Amino acid sequence: MSGTLRIIIMIALGFGILGVLIYGIMRILSFVAQGYSKVSDLVDDIRKGDAEAQATPRSLSNVDRIVIPQILRRFPEYDNELMVRRAVMDGDSYLKSLLSGVSSFTEKDGVRSFLEMMEETAEKAKNTVNWTDPRVHSAAVSKFEDNGDLCYVTYQVSYQYSVEGYTYQRKLAVKYIAAESPDYEKKIQVYKCPNCGAPVSQIGQKVCRYCGIALKTAAPLSWFIFDITDMS
Ligand SMILES: [Zn+2]
Repeated sequence: MSGTLRIIIMIALGFGILGVLIYGIMRILSFVAQGYSKVSDLVDDIRKGDAEAQATPRSLSNVDRIVIPQILRRFPEYDNELMVRRAVMDGDSYLKSLLSGVSSFTEKDGVRSFLEMMEETAEKAKNTVNWTDPRVHSAAVSKFEDNGDLCYVTYQVSYQYSVEGYTYQRKLAVKYIAAESPDYEKKIQVYKCPNCGAPVSQIGQKVCRYCGIALKTAAPLSWFIFDITDMS
């Protein structure tokens, strides 16, 4: 009888050990499953965050109050609202040029070096652009640079495009130069003060630095695109 009892005890022990093992394995499996569902929740959250971020246009620099007075001191007739509208249109033309493979900018828009760069960039983009539906949101002035002879104003332009149903928000920097013609490099330095003959090199210079006589610029200054870059 003691032999039978021993066998029964051993079987019971065996089942006990097996039960503990199975329970342990089940616990581990459920722990892993929970962990996995937490990870997948996290991935969902990240996707949701991305989708929200992608629906919101990139924020633009907010320095109008600082930059516009700087520009107006040098160019009293400067019209920022007009330039904001222009920056939006130029941003739009830039993106459409990349899509079509043909630059839509002319000598009215930009300096010679920009026009040449744009033709190359558009030609190259024709085979590599993988996005569609570009849309420009808005523009804001971000910088004024006065290097004496040359003055630049830069606008940030926010835009979006789509890749395989996803929307991406980005920014361009459109930099304008004050010049009399697209060939600003050649025309600068050529003017002389009609009174004393001193060179008048500074664009927008109102008074001769040497004799102090009031100067008239030979041609009205306009703002030409100097460069457009993707800030992303
Ligand atoms: Zn002079």
